Amino acid sequence: MSNYSVQTSLLHNEYAVDKSSNGVSVPIQHASTFHQNDIHEFGAYDYARSGNPTREALEHTIAELEGGTHGFAFASGMAAVSTSLMLLSKGDHLLITEDVYGGTFRFVTHVLSRFGIEHTFVDMTKLDEVNAAFQENTKAVFMETPSNPLLKVTDIEAVTKLAKENNCLTYIDNTFLTPLIQQPFSYGIDIIIHSATKFLAGHSDVVAGLVVVQDEALAQQIGFLQNSCGAILGPQDCWLVMRGMKTLHARLRQSVESAHRLATYLEEHPLIKKVYYPGLSSNAYYQTQQKQAKNGGAVLSFELQNEEAVERFVQQLKLPVFAVSLGAVESILSYPRNMSHGSMPDDECDRRGITKGLLRLSVGLEDVQELQADFEEALAATNEQKAVL
Ligand SMILES: *Cc1c(COP(=O)(O)O)cnc(C)c1O
Repeated sequence: MSNYSVQTSLLHNEYAVDKSSNGVSVPIQHASTFHQNDIHEFGAYDYARSGNPTREALEHTIAELEGGTHGFAFASGMAAVSTSLMLLSKGDHLLITEDVYGGTFRFVTHVLSRFGIEHTFVDMTKLDEVNAAFQENTKAVFMETPSNPLLKVTDIEAVTKLAKENNCLTYIDNTFLTPLIQQPFSYGIDIIIHSATKFLAGHSDVVAGLVVVQDEALAQQIGFLQNSCGAILGPQDCWLVMRGMKTLHARLRQSVESAHRLATYLEEHPLIKKVYYPGLSSNAYYQTQQKQAKNGGAVLSFELQNEEAVERFVQQLKLPVFAVSLGAVESILSYPRNMSHGSMPDDECDRRGITKGLLRLSVGLEDVQELQADFEEALAATNEQKAVL
């Protein structure tokens, strides 16, 4: 482990200078196979699905950041989720956050179920409900916090304790906060998962997934599954993720500060019904978030009056791109009802609070005053149009 702060060690780590060339960037090794000197002597690498030096650099880097011992890089966040859930076997039961990422929901309900792996969705913010959901065959608990799109916060330590009492393996999807804001190993989590597509890579230009563990036996198992399923991240994309991570500290600092400011602004705006951001002291999950994370992160959701208001507002807004995904240099606005949760039945969306007025904002690196002014103008225009109608 480095003695430097995270900020410094993102730049000055074992990969800061390439040992073979003194280049100040990790070389991209494209070879699919590696020469063996003779029939007895095998080198560090043999075949690139099993190991590649560029991927290894990324895997070491994320392991170090999370305070784990082994990292694994996958072709996408979903490849990381699906491969690591392959630790489960037929007849096992999984407890999982009810408002988990849509792709994880799809994998658990439509794929794992075909292999005889059962699941129960629970509101992980309610410990009594979690406690009541354990079954004889429950083998694992999968958390995602803050959740999407309502930023509900799970008490990681409390849920992990219940899981351990029930001899369960614990997973957490740490995509929304990254190890710079939330370090799940300190609460006893076994397996940390990231969609590195989001904040870690940070530039909306690569799809990638990561898994980190700190137990040797578990590392062996995940490594075996990574090699068996084969959904590895290619060397070029590994390099892109590492390049993005060099600025993670600076990007997060700016984005979190701006998100906090915009959340405060929106909370006071008369046209906004509700703001969901665990970094606001008025938020129901503020205390839990304070306890286990450095801040509220850079994603917030807010609610306008109705669908018409959303339509007008989105038409007026100039700066954020209107798209799925999050965690990038540019601010990204999305409409969960039709985008991430488009396949969820209407009544289920309503029940969960994913209303037709809800928007999610991932705050990027634009000047926050300009972002706020953009929101101000778009909200004013939304209101004027309404008056004309
Ligand atoms: C995007 C995302 C995923 C899936 O990652 P991909 O890289 O898109 O496969 C998983 N979990 C969360 C929280 C995400 O935001």
